[in-house]
Amino acid sequence: MHDDSGAVGIVGPVEPQTSLPPAWTSDEPAPRLRSDLDSLPRYRAGGRPPQPPPGTVAYSLASNESPVSPFPDVVAAVQAAATQANRYPDPASTALVAALARQYELPAEAVLIGTGSVAICQQAVTAAAGPGDEVVFAWRSFEAYPIITAVAGAAAVRVPLTPDARHDIDALIAAVTPRTRVVFVCTPNNPTGTVVLHSEVERLLAAVGSEVLVVIDEAYREYVTDPGAADGVALAKEHGNVIALRTFSKAYGLAGLRVGYGIAPPALASRLRAVSLPFGVSALAEAAAVASLGAVDQMLGAVAATIAERDRVVAELHDLGWDVGRPQGNFVWLPLADRAAEFAARCAEAYLAVRAFPGEGVRVSVAEPQANDRFIGVLGEFGTKVP
Ligand SMILES: *Cc1c(COP(=O)(O)O)cnc(C)c1O
Repeated sequence: MHDDSGAVGIVGPVEPQTSLPPAWTSDEPAPRLRSDLDSLPRYRAGGRPPQPPPGTVAYSLASNESPVSPFPDVVAAVQAAATQANRYPDPASTALVAALARQYELPAEAVLIGTGSVAICQQAVTAAAGPGDEVVFAWRSFEAYPIITAVAGAAAVRVPLTPDARHDIDALIAAVTPRTRVVFVCTPNNPTGTVVLHSEVERLLAAVGSEVLVVIDEAYREYVTDPGAADGVALAKEHGNVIALRTFSKAYGLAGLRVGYGIAPPALASRLRAVSLPFGVSALAEAAAVASLGAVDQMLGAVAATIAERDRVVAELHDLGWDVGRPQGNFVWLPLADRAAEFAARCAEAYLAVRAFPGEGVRVSVAEPQANDRFIGVLGEFGTKVP
C-alpha cells in the first residue's frame, strides 16, 4: 500500500480462524496431489519496510521497482479500460502486439505477451521440458527459474557464477548434456547486476547447438549502458532457438499490472503461445502497456535519472571502501556473505526494505535520491567489507 508521502505499509498474513470445519483440520490435503509438491522451492517476494513513525518515510528497495508512479497518460488509459471491465480482454493482446511489432520492426507473429515476463519464462520451460529433462542456469540468478523448472518436473542444473559474480560461459557450456532442453541467460543478472556480453552469448549459442531453447532474460535491459552487453532481440532475429524476454514491470514502472513480452522467431513463438493461459493479460494491463510505449520519452527520462543515481551510489560506495563493480540494472549487489542478514536488519531499523540472501549478499534497488542516501548512510555505519 502506498500513501501520498511515499510511505509503505506492511501487508500481514491472514489471521487464522479460531475454529475450522472438520474437513480442514488435517495437515494432509484430502485429494491425492503430486508427491514432490512439498519440496518445490517457494518464491520469497521482496519484503516491505516496517511502519515508520509519523514524519519518517519508509522506502522499499527490495523488489527493483521503479520509484516513479505511472505517467498521467498511462493512468488515464487504465481508467478508460476499467470502464469496460465487464468484458473479457482481447486474448491475443492485438493492440500491444502491434505496437511492439512496430517498435522492433518485426512481424506480429514474433511477439509474445504474458502476465509479466516470468509467465513467459514458465511457458518456455513448460513447452520444452518435463520429467527427465534438464534446465540449465547460472546461480545465483532469478529465483523464479528453479521454481518454474520444478513445477515442470524437470531437473535444475545450477552453474555457479564466477568469483566476480558473472555468468561462467565455459561452465554453462560444459553443463549442457543431451537431456538439456532450456538454458536461461539472465542479463543483467538478478541479483548481481552483471551483464553477459553479446560475444559470450554467441559463443554459448554456437556450443549448445540449435536444439536447446535459449531464453535471454533482459528484464533490466533499459538500464544497460555497457555497449558490449548482449542484445537478446538481435540474437532472437538470427537464431531459431532464442527468445528474448523484456517487461513493463521495471523501467516502465508497471510491476503491479503484470505484463511483459518475448521476442522469438514466429515458429517458436507460436509453440510457446500454445501453453499460455487464456485471457491472462488483462485489458487494463494491455492498455497501460500500449500507453507506456507512447510515453517512451518520459520512460527514458525516468530511466536516465535512475542510471545517474546508480552511478552516484556506486561512486559513493567506492569512497566507503566498497567495490561493487559496474552494476547494469536498477540495483546494486553487496556480497556480504554471512553478514547479509545483519545488514538487512540494520536497513529495516532505518525503514528501508532490502533483499537479503543470507550467507550470500544483499541486493539493494536504486530509487529516489533520499532513499539511496539513507542506504549509503546505513552502509557507512555498518563498516567496510572485510577483504
Ligand atoms: C523482475 C524480473 C523479471 C520480470 O518480472 P515480471 O514482473 O514478471 O515481468 C524477469 N526476470 C528477472 C531476472 C527479473 O528480475
